[in-house]
Amino acid sequence: MSVMTILSGKGGTGKTTVLVNLAYAAKDRFGKVNLLDCDVEAPNVDLFIQAKPESTEQVDIKIPRIDSDKCTYCGICQEVCEFNAIVIMKSKKKHMIFDELCHSCGACFEMCPENAIFEIDKNIGKIRKGSRDTLTIYSGFLKVGEMLGVPVIKKVKQHIVKDMFNLIDSSPGTSCPVVHSVLGSDFCLLVTEPTPFGLYDLQLAVDLLRVLKKDFSVVINKSGANDKIIDAYCKSEDIAIIGRIPFEKRIAELYSKGDIILKEEPYKKIYKDILDNILNRIEQL
Ligand code: SF4
Ligand code: SF4
Repeated sequence: MSVMTILSGKGGTGKTTVLVNLAYAAKDRFGKVNLLDCDVEAPNVDLFIQAKPESTEQVDIKIPRIDSDKCTYCGICQEVCEFNAIVIMKSKKKHMIFDELCHSCGACFEMCPENAIFEIDKNIGKIRKGSRDTLTIYSGFLKVGEMLGVPVIKKVKQHIVKDMFNLIDSSPGTSCPVVHSVLGSDFCLLVTEPTPFGLYDLQLAVDLLRVLKKDFSVVINKSGANDKIIDAYCKSEDIAIIGRIPFEKRIAELYSKGDIILKEEPYKKIYKDILDNILNRIEQL
């Protein structure tokens, strides 16, 4: 079995809708599917699935605190912190730690010559497990106001099951959380829309996947007369377009009712063909 990440250069392309429908197509094929929602600032896969919540686990990171009795105010911790999260005021014998800037790298803790730094836990989010039928879903939630999504993503990905088909929903864009969602994936699916903005963001996502040396294909959502803008780019870059979801009123109706479009033809066949194409690509790797 395998791990596939679905991503899009921009928000609003219908990435999550494609993932959910592919999940149902994969369920018809394999029986069980494992879903991992790594779009931790706005996880919504389980809303589409209407998963029944089963359990929750907290995500904590380690952040430093300074023991004033041991500290000599040498300033080494401030120097080694690449994120400016520690300020040492030697003349006033004071220190400040900015928890929001701390990346929990542990450098200050390791480098303090006086062992004056100790670590405490800080909660930054949670993972919620849910299920529906034979779909299992782990959704990562980053606490409002927190900036470090990567530790939550890493914790969600600990739930990848080796002998299952695993589908990861990444956040939109090409930033650090997307990189961490994609790492370890066997294959990636880029969902785009046939607009100039869609093309621009698709190009960024393609550049990222090439840097990460990941195999990928493209699906055009809201496909129609404007597809040529994506077709021309993919042809010039030798990128396979393995599916087109039409821009149709019926899809919008099903979507607005929270239904999966896979229930109806011709959409069922479209998704089955996309899944076949994905599995063929994975087999060739
Ligand atoms: S490295 Fe240790 S001793 Fe030096 S200022 Fe930081 S906490 Fe104090
Ligand atoms: S753990 Fe790392 S990021 Fe946080 S304060 Fe220490 S050196 Fe800076």
